[in-house]
Amino acid sequence: MEIETECPYCGEPITVWIDPGGGSRQRYVEDCSVCCRPIEIGARADDDGRYEVDAARDDD
Ligand SMILES: [Zn+2]
Repeated sequence: MEIETECPYCGEPITVWIDPGGGSRQRYVEDCSVCCRPIEIGARADDDGRYEVDAARDDD
């Protein structure tokens, strides 16, 4: 499942992939496709199975 969010470093829109099989709460690190810095992605599913993501910096 593709979710659009924003890079917390460069502010560019990015697309992250969520695997619904990984559970309703997920946290992992993915490099920004624009600036290549590591983004901590937190994803959680609502009751309808749709995911919301938080993108946080992983450097402080
Ligand atoms: Zn970036």
